[in-house]
Amino acid sequence: MKRVRKEQRTLESLFYDKLHVRNTQYTNLEDLVVRRMKVLRLLESFKSGVSLQDISDQWEDVESHFYCRLLCSQALWSVKWFVGLETQLFRKRLLSYESEKVGVYFKESFLRRLEGIDTDKNLILPHSSLLMKERGPFEYNSDLKVHFTKVYDLVATRRVKLDRGYCKINPEVMRSCLNNFYRQFLEEKMYWLYEYMLRTPDERLKKLHERIFSEKKPISAPTTIEDSHKYLPPCISKLINKLKKTRHIKYNDRQTLCLFLKDTGVSVEENIQFMRSAFDVTKSVFDKEYLYGIRHNYGLEGKKANYSSFTCKKIISMSREPNTCGCPFTNDLDGLSEYMASKGVECPEIENMIKNSGCQEACSSVLAKILDKNHAATISSPVDFYREYRADKQ
Ligand code: SF4
Repeated sequence: MKRVRKEQRTLESLFYDKLHVRNTQYTNLEDLVVRRMKVLRLLESFKSGVSLQDISDQWEDVESHFYCRLLCSQALWSVKWFVGLETQLFRKRLLSYESEKVGVYFKESFLRRLEGIDTDKNLILPHSSLLMKERGPFEYNSDLKVHFTKVYDLVATRRVKLDRGYCKINPEVMRSCLNNFYRQFLEEKMYWLYEYMLRTPDERLKKLHERIFSEKKPISAPTTIEDSHKYLPPCISKLINKLKKTRHIKYNDRQTLCLFLKDTGVSVEENIQFMRSAFDVTKSVFDKEYLYGIRHNYGLEGKKANYSSFTCKKIISMSREPNTCGCPFTNDLDGLSEYMASKGVECPEIENMIKNSGCQEACSSVLAKILDKNHAATISSPVDFYREYRADKQ
């Protein structure tokens, strides 16, 4: 791959919000995917002194980025892998621009694409997010401040001073802001794509994913139901309590639980046995109504696709549906307190955390408390919670 010439790329193009190609040959897609993956892997194993190879031109860069989105959206762990490395790539490129140029871009273009700015108080609010299009003119004011959650990397290393949760804008804050908004933007796009791919799987992409990541895929160590129950996140704990009490759960909850158990390493046989004993129906009714669904989730029936567990975003979005447990951070704060009490932790500030940072960040903070740590990685699925919890205790 040729090295990129810096002047070929505009700051706007770093956000990858448009793909200009409508149709492409599959071979072209595969070729570009393989080439970009080389760049990302190089970045992943980056050691000082190794220079980053880049992609030959802006068009190729945009195309290969979008094709890799398709590839990596085939599994939740590769979604996270991709978001992490693309954010690193973004940061590296951003650092190659002079501060003055970044400042002009930040003030004249970037802020116009943000929603969630309080123009009266001059604040970029905690819930602000990046839009695909400019929302209109925005007059930059040197009093503008940004909420600490948008520059958390600087806060963690105490490189900014906070005044009631907000900090002033300077060149370092601008870079951190751009980088963190980019991560948030890409994460949202990737989770949306991941959900879409679950509904409409594409066999060629699945196979390409398997081939490209064959040596990388983290193996879920086989586990037993009993073992998996020790490290349950609040949503699954609530769901299992409901199942024990009512001896039945509806489709959304069944899928949430079954796919969670599968991705934590529970075998199909044990999953079936667990569900069979939990449901208050005869064996023949169970086999007729539920057996196919469980086997289907393991890729043993129908399309034989390998389904992954639901993301937090999906579970949160189901929280208001009838007969669905959903995420306790959105619909059951009492249940959440009981869960925390059973783990011996308290979190009186939980409501504020949910309001300011959202359910997933609040869930990470609860996990950090359980593990007695200052910080836990952001939770994007119940399986993430389980893995981090289990890894810490073993
Ligand atoms: Fe479950 Fe995710 Fe909600 Fe945590 S944030 S309780 S893991 S859905």
